[in-house]
Amino acid sequence: MREISAAVVREPNAVSVETVDLEGPRRGEVLVDVRATGVCHTDYHAYTSADLATPIVLGHEGAGVVEAVGEGVSTVSPGDRVVLWVLPSCGECTHCRDGKPYLCQVRRDLDGGLMDGTRRLRADDGPINHFYAQSSFASMAVVPERQVVPIDEDVPHEVAALLGCGVTTGLGGVLNVADVDSGDSVAVFGCGGVGAGAILAAAAVSAGTIVAVDVDEDTLEAMAEIGATHTVDAASTDPVEAIHDRVGDVDHAIECLGAPETVRQAVETLAPGGTAVITGTSDTDPAEIDLGLFTRGISVVGNIVGFTRPHVDIPRYATMYRNGDLGLERLLTHRHELSDLDAAFSGFESGVGIRRVVKFGAGP
Ligand SMILES: [Zn+2]
Ligand SMILES: [Zn+2]
Repeated sequence: MREISAAVVREPNAVSVETVDLEGPRRGEVLVDVRATGVCHTDYHAYTSADLATPIVLGHEGAGVVEAVGEGVSTVSPGDRVVLWVLPSCGECTHCRDGKPYLCQVRRDLDGGLMDGTRRLRADDGPINHFYAQSSFASMAVVPERQVVPIDEDVPHEVAALLGCGVTTGLGGVLNVADVDSGDSVAVFGCGGVGAGAILAAAAVSAGTIVAVDVDEDTLEAMAEIGATHTVDAASTDPVEAIHDRVGDVDHAIECLGAPETVRQAVETLAPGGTAVITGTSDTDPAEIDLGLFTRGISVVGNIVGFTRPHVDIPRYATMYRNGDLGLERLLTHRHELSDLDAAFSGFESGVGIRRVVKFGAGP
């Protein structure tokens, strides 16, 4: 058992840094000295939710250095620099064995625990829930081995933390789900972390036309700087009409909000044979889609974490970054201390910046 600093949520919209106990890694688990953790919309959503099972430590986009490993761990050793991947997977179901861990449903059964259902975090008044089997808004975290991905030494922790979930969902939406080719036309609906990742990836594979659609002018300006060839302000124009007028139909529409209106718009911008990639959310609202559009041979595909195979794709994206082909560092607009997490969350409300990380200690 060791004492760590963790940002504990005990009621919605309130977080405080507490000293809590963290039990060491059990079989198949890894103890990580956390150096940076991305702040994702999913954290913010949980933080504001009345249904959140508290107390809990949020954070699911961690990066750091392996401190110790539990029995049976073979893929990482103490001292390794790692990314902590968001989605738990069992390694045994048909999806995992088929090389598609993003389809594994084990996360639905975790209920605030790690893979064996128990908790490693504890305060004086009892156990604390884990978030996505990670809880990396903390100076240290115990994480299942399958979510711990080694990464090259020269990738800064704050950049590595961007690869843990949201940005990678956008990268994979373009590179794995839509499989965008050089010269293709792409429209990205909603330019937060996921959408910005999609634009970076589309630029990296030399898509011919990259349209950024958002309701915030500053965000659109930022997207033009990271690779969008056109921007459409959906607050003042109908994006479907604007896209048709300015660039025609698009080969790929990457929808990054999972909202009924943007889903409809994404589908309506497609060229014959085009693909709409829709970010999965927990919302169950219906979207109204003109069924006649399916006579154009379009496809509509759900994007769950960019179809990421963490041990294949995260090192691949890191290599693209190191080669200068993927400007991940340009997404990193705000750095926060752990004690400043509520300010990071209020940044989501204001919509300022692209991506925020919480930093632990000095250095990048
Ligand atoms: Zn599985
Ligand atoms: Zn996330």
